[in-house]
Amino acid sequence: MNNDLDEASNTNLEMLNKSEFEFSEQFQALLMANLTVSNELDLEKVLQTIADTACDFAKAHYAALGIVNSEGVITSFITSGISQEVREQIGDLPRGHGLLGELIKQGKPIRVRDITKDPRRSGFPPHHPPMTSLLGVPVSLNGQIVGDLYLTDKIGADEFSDIDEWWVILFARQAAVAVQNANLYQKMREAQQRSQTLAELTSSLNQAIEPQQLFDQITQASRRLLNLPAAALYLLNSQRTQFNLQSQAGMLISKNGASEVFLPLEGSIAGRVLQTEKPIAISDTSELPQTFFMQLANNQQPRALLVVPIWQQGQTLRGVIEVYAAEPRTFSSEEIALLEAFAGQAALILERTQLIQQKEEFLSMTAHDLRAPLTAIRMSAGILESSLPTDLPEPLLRLVSNINRNSERLSHLLEDLLDLTRLEQGRLRLNLTETSLVEQIAAITQTVTPLFESKDQKLELQLAAENVWVKLDKHRFEQILVNLLTNANKYTPIGGIIQLRLQAEPDWVTLVIADNGAGIPADEQERIFDRFYRRAFHEQSNEATGSGLGLPIARLLAELHNGKLWVESTEGKGSCFYLKLPRLASREFEASDIIE
Ligand code: ADP
Repeated sequence: MNNDLDEASNTNLEMLNKSEFEFSEQFQALLMANLTVSNELDLEKVLQTIADTACDFAKAHYAALGIVNSEGVITSFITSGISQEVREQIGDLPRGHGLLGELIKQGKPIRVRDITKDPRRSGFPPHHPPMTSLLGVPVSLNGQIVGDLYLTDKIGADEFSDIDEWWVILFARQAAVAVQNANLYQKMREAQQRSQTLAELTSSLNQAIEPQQLFDQITQASRRLLNLPAAALYLLNSQRTQFNLQSQAGMLISKNGASEVFLPLEGSIAGRVLQTEKPIAISDTSELPQTFFMQLANNQQPRALLVVPIWQQGQTLRGVIEVYAAEPRTFSSEEIALLEAFAGQAALILERTQLIQQKEEFLSMTAHDLRAPLTAIRMSAGILESSLPTDLPEPLLRLVSNINRNSERLSHLLEDLLDLTRLEQGRLRLNLTETSLVEQIAAITQTVTPLFESKDQKLELQLAAENVWVKLDKHRFEQILVNLLTNANKYTPIGGIIQLRLQAEPDWVTLVIADNGAGIPADEQERIFDRFYRRAFHEQSNEATGSGLGLPIARLLAELHNGKLWVESTEGKGSCFYLKLPRLASREFEASDIIE
């Protein structure tokens, strides 16, 4: 016995010594395959290397490596030793039957000397090259079989050996690692893509000014985020008795004759979210009692939905975002987390928009309420000033004139505030008429001449000789131009020069108001168009009497005329304001002037 054993181990040792060189070569090849697996992200390429190397290693004519997903669908099928042409002739390889089916089912290696004689065989498809010996091993990942690697037709022997099996098991492990890497990489890419979409969509919300615009963007974005056909946004009403529909995307709402669409707290998923304070995902709505008012665009009921809460200040429920699918489907925890994260961002922006709206409403209400008493003060002060005896003591006269001047300023400020809120809320309407620009400018400059004279400044007009026609709201145009001219007057020292030039192009006309005054530093040239922005320099030197509302109003008015207003300036040298307006080809009714 002992002798037998010794003999056997000696033979093994001899075999190993003999194949030492061969073994180290094989080991090198295994290492190379290993490197390919860890460096290559293209799964097909990795699997091909594994199949080819396994084929070489175990000295087989052919090798095949198949990977299936959790639903049993083949996601990759790689062959080695079979030409592309033959593969195409064979067509789809039979899977899950016969010997290979057995391999997947059992999860253990199979070795067969002659497949054609094996009772478990299911036969070859037409054009399949004839094969006899077979070695197959399962590819398993986390204890689950995800495919198989099999070799056929051992070269130089009738069947595959123990060592062949051992190698092929190692290769199958490599394949499993490659599949795992690919899955992880795929997941990472998806997560990356999702967070990118999330960031993009969130920043698009920031651009919404009007609440309705924001609501619509939230539903559109929710849909896009999860790539679903429809979404809706419901907010709780102020009594917190129902959810009112604010916006829907990709759906037709059946209103059932009601003027507003709402969800009751009882019997709605949104109501359940209010109770549980957690997102709710329904994978198949046919298992639910009828709770919907929604229909998808093709008149179908949604078959799956996900409802996530929108929190106010992170604690009180404000509303819900609902997303809908046309077919039953489950929502992964990543998808739920993603929509929740988006709802969190949307909540912050909703709160901010609401605050801005409240502030604007307050501003415009206050301005309105101040208007009537202020008018009374102005009128009374005016009458008082004009009817006072002129021989009154000087300080007394100054006080009355002070009241007059400041109530006038206050009234202008109030009008500016009202204008700005109306412009920002899109409530200001223009009264457009076709106007000769040159005539209009000439009339306006007349009214401001005293201002320039008071500072010994020169106002140079360089207007076009030809008539330039534009569609203007005369009163609003005057407001823009007077603001630009009074600014030029204010921010240019005594004796300065202010030019008003008109540059006419076929479709546009540009008014240039240039001064040689204080100028504006580059980093403030955009900011002066922000509301209430006044340059610190003027404040320190006590020169500014303005409110910082003139330019933002002028720019919005220019835009309302389909025009533009911008500045170019060099600090210490002067500023150039440009007002560009669309030019009319000719005055439409010029002929009628002649008839008149
Ligand atoms: P304000 O009522 O303060 O003049 P505006 O909105 O009209 O408000 O102007 C905003 C700021 O832009 C001013 O405070 C001033 O600093 C700067 N500015 C406007 N026009 C000129 C100019 N022609 N030259 C230099 N600075 C100017």
